Amino acid sequence: MTAKILDGNALAQKLRADFKTRAEALLASRGTRPGLAVILVGEDPASQVYVRNKVNACAQAGFHSEKISYTADVEAQLVFDRIAELNADPKIHGILVQLPLPKHFDSDAVLKAIAPEKDVDGFHAENVGALMQGHPRFIPCTPYGVMKFLAEAGIDLKGKEAVILGRSNIVGKPMAMLLMQASATVTICHSQTRDLAFHTRRADILVAALGKARFVTAEMVKPGAVVIDVGINRLPDGKLCGDVDFAAVSEVASAITPVPGGVGPMTITMLLANTLEAAEREAR
Ligand code: NDP
Repeated sequence: MTAKILDGNALAQKLRADFKTRAEALLASRGTRPGLAVILVGEDPASQVYVRNKVNACAQAGFHSEKISYTADVEAQLVFDRIAELNADPKIHGILVQLPLPKHFDSDAVLKAIAPEKDVDGFHAENVGALMQGHPRFIPCTPYGVMKFLAEAGIDLKGKEAVILGRSNIVGKPMAMLLMQASATVTICHSQTRDLAFHTRRADILVAALGKARFVTAEMVKPGAVVIDVGINRLPDGKLCGDVDFAAVSEVASAITPVPGGVGPMTITMLLANTLEAAEREAR
């Protein structure tokens, strides 16, 4: 079997064109332009690239955006004060603090300072709770993108065995919640799971989000499974690769996301979706 490749760039492009149209309609009907503020603390090169990509994606979709940068040694109170201003700013519908923050910051306290109605990453405890209760306000962008992929590929999740590798707050846990709410039977694996391959081989849907290059081999995958690779790892030669051995697993799976060009472009796309949804809600 050679797997169908689920193209994240193509799906992202299609969704972003739709968001641009919706943003134009909102501006025309209510005078509201969706607005995102991105706060970056420190000089981490990867974070700088992520923030630049987010700001550029906003511009392409016709959104307003503001990038607010601080040096790593900034006094935390200054950042809290800025978040409070953004919470009250009617031009801003989404606020995002790029993680990780420097060590002297209490990240939980920073995320909690963002107004839940503007928490487009969906990391605020109030939004995590709403997702858990099955009526989400904002779905965290990466698992939201994965669900879009599965829907676009026409994959019926009802009664399917879904196995997730990784239990982080930003990927594994919300992913599990969404798949469970879509009526899959969900197993979450982590670094202490015994006999990982026993679980992965049962999976109709396998989501790899552990951050280990090419960890998932063909022997770990059930023939015909749908494999979603969330991982982003840099190889010694500088190239990017996922958590899945793409070449070998493509011969076993029925569908697979590549890295790069799979889940990555969908994550920023769903950030736009959350910002647009926030603006539309506010304008209602
Ligand atoms: P974390 O490091 O927060 O979590 C990794 C998880 O994987 C943990 O739950 C850990 O278990 C588990 N894990 C680690 N090693 C193993 C192992 N050998 N066997 C089983 N489980 C293991 O990572 P994130 O969730 O933030 O990210 C995961 C990957 O996804 C990374 O490569 C990241 O770069 C990528 N990513 C990609 C995004 C995109 O847009 N495509 C967005 C976000 C992340 P334990 O809890 O026991 O430590």
